Amino acid sequence: MTPKLKSTATAGLLAGKVVLVTGAASGIGAAAARAAAHEGAKVVLADRNAPGTEEIATGLAKTGAEVLAVTVDVSDAQSVTAMIASVTKRFGQLDAAFNNAGIGTLETRAVGNRAGDLEEDSWRRMLDVNLTGVWLCMKHEIAVMARGAAIVNMASIAGLIGLPRAAHYTAAKHGVVGLTKAAAIDYADLGIRVNAICPGFVETPLTATSNAEKRAASVAKTPIGRYATAEEIAAQAIWLMSDHSGYVTGAAIAVDGGYTAT
Ligand code: NAD
Repeated sequence: MTPKLKSTATAGLLAGKVVLVTGAASGIGAAAARAAAHEGAKVVLADRNAPGTEEIATGLAKTGAEVLAVTVDVSDAQSVTAMIASVTKRFGQLDAAFNNAGIGTLETRAVGNRAGDLEEDSWRRMLDVNLTGVWLCMKHEIAVMARGAAIVNMASIAGLIGLPRAAHYTAAKHGVVGLTKAAAIDYADLGIRVNAICPGFVETPLTATSNAEKRAASVAKTPIGRYATAEEIAAQAIWLMSDHSGYVTGAAIAVDGGYTAT
């Protein structure tokens, strides 16, 4: 059975911070935006899905949270530049960012393809969004961040091990882990921490299309024996963006129900 997180237990972890979440219109990003607001942050919700972002932001504003909704394509440098300009115009600072926006194999029409059978456009689209998108966001976030800031990049267990029939996704997520480690070293002396989280299988729209057989196989390989909730993944991102993880940088933390421990 999936345990319910007691969301009131840690309220205030991000008090006073301006937090940016990309991919905030759905799944893990939406859960992270809600959790960040709950922890006292001013939250910038960014996604390519404008109506979805507005909907989540409006819901949060009704709870009294200070929010800003921004439409962005993380794979487009101009769009990312404009996103950061909106953040600084509205809040004048950026303390933490969760670079979470990403796509799965379905969006690149490459389900079930072996590495050599991937079309070049599928490969490039995957790398553009899931790796270059993270780098572009980080580049422009760091430019406006001050000492004490924290970045969390979304990787996956596919950033730690190979996943079958998903070579482009696996390559992109390994890239995110490498980028995270290199950037953590580059910015440690400037007081900016950079970490990655590596979820296993999570209950979100991204995985909702998996067939029953594939789901059962994923659960069977996961020692905890179920998919994660989006909230369980978001909770790790919140901790890594908070001062409670002040000595953690360059880490790629598996949040996978034990999948990569087997
Ligand atoms: P999701 O599809 O529910 O949410 C992804 C969000 O990213 C969507 O709102 C989408 O509009 C947005 N997005 C996609 N491309 C974008 C772009 N170019 N610019 C801006 N926004 C864009 O999926 P999710 O499961 O919440 O996935 C979030 C992240 O978690 C992804 O990076 C994914 O690879 C990663 N992840 C998911 C799982 C899982 O099992 N669901 C496991 C490991 C890692």
